[in-house]
Amino acid sequence: MAFIIRLLILAALAWFGFRLVRQLMGGPQELPKQTPRNELMQRCAHCGVHLPSGESTQSGGYTFCSEAHRDAYFREHPRQ
Ligand SMILES: [Zn+2]
Repeated sequence: MAFIIRLLILAALAWFGFRLVRQLMGGPQELPKQTPRNELMQRCAHCGVHLPSGESTQSGGYTFCSEAHRDAYFREHPRQ
């Protein structure tokens, strides 16, 4: 009987150890997921300013810092 109890304790320790290792391994992997917006900088096709993709305006495969620059760009570069 003592053997079964020891086995259960060993299994519990192994499970906790596995969870701890997974948490330690998963920790650094979750960090890039939280900051992809900071990494992704887009360049305005009209004035060339760099800005986060969340603040940019996208149209026709181009990125713009504002709707005014989007309109200005397509005025100067009419689509065929
Ligand atoms: Zn611009």
